[in-house]
Amino acid sequence: MHDATYNKPAALKGYSVKNATTDISNDLLDWYDRERRSLPWRAEPGQRADPYRVWLSEIMLQQTTVATVKAYFVKFLKLWPTVEALAQAPQEQVLKEWAGLGYYARARNLHKCARVVTGELGGQFPQSEDGLRALPGIGDYTAAAIAAIAFGVPAVVVDGNIERVVSRLFRINDMLPQAKKPIKAAAATITPTERSGRPGDFAQAMMDLGAGVCTPRKPKCSQCPLAAHCKAATFGDMERYPVRKPKTVKPTRRAISFWLTHNSHILLERRADKGLLGGMPGLFSTPWVERTEFPGAGEWADAAPHQGEWRLGETIAKHTFTHFHLETRLAVAAVPARLNVENGFWVPLADLADVGLPTVFKKMLPLAR
Ligand code: SF4
Repeated sequence: MHDATYNKPAALKGYSVKNATTDISNDLLDWYDRERRSLPWRAEPGQRADPYRVWLSEIMLQQTTVATVKAYFVKFLKLWPTVEALAQAPQEQVLKEWAGLGYYARARNLHKCARVVTGELGGQFPQSEDGLRALPGIGDYTAAAIAAIAFGVPAVVVDGNIERVVSRLFRINDMLPQAKKPIKAAAATITPTERSGRPGDFAQAMMDLGAGVCTPRKPKCSQCPLAAHCKAATFGDMERYPVRKPKTVKPTRRAISFWLTHNSHILLERRADKGLLGGMPGLFSTPWVERTEFPGAGEWADAAPHQGEWRLGETIAKHTFTHFHLETRLAVAAVPARLNVENGFWVPLADLADVGLPTVFKKMLPLAR
């Protein structure tokens, strides 16, 4: 039934909101009850979600796929089954176990947040979006997702998947990121407004629909429970949404990294807490800057953790971050005694796989052979 008295939000000026109807959430929830994904952090139907699990999974899922997160989630839960246990862990261990998930500021904030919840909030996560947003590492989206899924708050949850579904349902023609506002306003028109409307399940159903049915390429509209409500499906231009700027070419940064050993030990750097891969172990390197050539010998020798003889390898390790590609060559040297280098620490080569090296550095390891 269409809501004839619906008051259109300003952000939806110019868009038809005939879809603002409870039919959408009912159709979606019926589908979810049949097709929901079974994920390790999800409560079984009819059971209450555990806020710790919901929070942990939502932090891991920021910028990381469900497939990758599953194994990390299970590992974290085994190591630290409660928020109190996580709060008591040394930060270094949390970073180490996080290695490979990327975006390491998330791990530092995860740990900080666990300490705030345990130390200041008696081990209980706040239930409101505002209360959650005040915690380290929790932004608008994550606060809404936790409030809805863990506490049944009718919050408007819009992640990348939901953004795609909603922009297609309503044919939102604004270009991202400006489109975020009308997309959220449109999402609000279909989100259940009462706890009894199962807002947490609604959010998870939208996520599942975006992940498995309303996919970026070739959405499976014939299997979609919302096809009858979907404007893009009516017009047949689903893949046009969400409208994005044409992709810009990522710049390439080039650097020399240093493989310095002494007696079956290697020198690693503990990176500064702030910035890319903050607080993580890595190889000492020249600065990662955009350039067409690798640094010349005079230049990189100055940045080396030891002034002596180095052999520079020809092979290049490549890694792609969100905003740039990185190409690295490895300079190799051995020293007769351990040096003390600021922010440096020595580890046995045999333990290198266990120190939690980020992927970018793991890709450099074969270059040393
Ligand atoms: S009908 Fe197609 S485009 Fe529309 S929401 Fe469903 S899968 Fe997405």
